[in-house]
Amino acid sequence: MKFLSYWHDTAPRFQGGAVGAAEGDFDVAVIGGGFTGLGAALQLARAGARVIVLEADAIGAGASGRNGGHLNNGLAHSYLAAKAELGRERATALYKAFDQGIDTLERLIAEEAISCDFRRAGKLKLASKPKHFPAIARNFEAIHAEVDPDTALLSAQELEAEVGAPFHGAMLSRKSAMMHMGKFVAGLADAALRHGAVIHEQACVTSVAKEAGRQRIATDKGTVTAREVLLATGGYTTSNFSWFRRRIIPVGSFIIATRPLTEAEANAVMPGNRTCVNSMNIGNYFRLSPDRRLIFGGRARFSARSDQRSDALGGAILKAAMTRVFPQLAKVEVDYCWGGLVDMTADRFPRAGHQDGLWYAMGYSGHGAQLSTHLGMTMADAILGRPNRNPLDGLDWPAVPGHFGKPWFLPLVGLYYKMVDWVK
Ligand SMILES: Cc1cc2nc3c(=O)[nH]c(=O)nc-3n(C[C@H](O)[C@H](O)[C@H](O)COP(=O)(O)OP(=O)(O)OC[C@H]3O[C@@H](n4cnc5c(N)ncnc54)[C@H](O)[C@@H]3O)c2cc1C
Repeated sequence: MKFLSYWHDTAPRFQGGAVGAAEGDFDVAVIGGGFTGLGAALQLARAGARVIVLEADAIGAGASGRNGGHLNNGLAHSYLAAKAELGRERATALYKAFDQGIDTLERLIAEEAISCDFRRAGKLKLASKPKHFPAIARNFEAIHAEVDPDTALLSAQELEAEVGAPFHGAMLSRKSAMMHMGKFVAGLADAALRHGAVIHEQACVTSVAKEAGRQRIATDKGTVTAREVLLATGGYTTSNFSWFRRRIIPVGSFIIATRPLTEAEANAVMPGNRTCVNSMNIGNYFRLSPDRRLIFGGRARFSARSDQRSDALGGAILKAAMTRVFPQLAKVEVDYCWGGLVDMTADRFPRAGHQDGLWYAMGYSGHGAQLSTHLGMTMADAILGRPNRNPLDGLDWPAVPGHFGKPWFLPLVGLYYKMVDWVK
């Protein structure tokens, strides 16, 4: 088994990183080379801005190259919960931003000729227990009437043609999609480069300070200046950005990928070939890869770390969970096991705006694959002075009480959700 992201292992790595010192003066410096940062860099470069991307590791080394490969409609919350917390207007705008995010990707992929196996597969939100189905049905009714008519409610019987496991009904979102995340992130970086962006890998930003009307950005590889700075560092935000570290909770999330299934095995477990998410609080999500592996993920354990030891522990829990859902895969080998850090916020709503001279977009709480690219482009438009399209504009973002960067409270949160899953 490889302790490596399947997306990293099966896509060409980005090769266009600048060599030598990071130096010069730019219109915009983007910190972070994931979907948010690259989406912004592409939009800025297309508008003729001089833009530099500063990435501490490699392009796509963060969550963007480590996720489950789902482009699912909807937020981390049910739509009804989002409406109750945010009010109808903002909840609707945010829900639609997730939809538009998939449209944005589809358009970008065509315009920039990015080959990344994008497919409108549709998503199933599966009821893990019979008592979960009424809540899914209530949420479906509101979504169908108010934000997305391209949805359907499926009974347990109708699901038999979709998933080879006993779930108790589901909501189908037809617009949802899937793609190869490694191919997309490298393709996005190539596109930004083609339009004139400068990209530095292994360039960790150690400080940002305003001097004589310009931002002075110090990195491991040299110092650059820029008029504006966008922070796109997600769950990997370093401690020098303390205002953000007090608001972002990095949570490890883990994934396994089986060996390629035979056609018969794949048809037995995922005849519908859609993206699937179950309804537990400590839930699982799964899909098939283009080479028919089952890619099966979940929070597995509540840890702020993702390294080989942590990923291996998470992987063992996931293998057991996968076998519970699909006993027919008990003897199927797992070829890949990896993890990544999710940029969780306390209320699981993302945030995007301007703070202390920095533009930012982050806090996708595990639902950012399309929204991050879309919000990165939205923040680029804000920097360019274009009309405001930010669905999160002005949303309050208090610090997490007692949180100064290391989330000591995660095991307690994990225990709480485990208990909720037992009783509900
Ligand atoms: C295991 C896992 C599964 C997921 N599954 C899904 C899914 O199926 N569908 C979905 O919608 N979402 C999913 N997500 C969430 C989604 O992947 C993220 O929301 C999205 O990739 C965020 O992109 P980003 O560019 O904001 O952050 P990232 O991709 O994390 O990029 C941030 C980058 O900033 C860099 N950085 C940090 N600090 C500095 C610094 N000081 N200087 C320079 N660079 C710095 C990091 O090295 C990193 O590369 C998942 C996340 C994880 C971890």
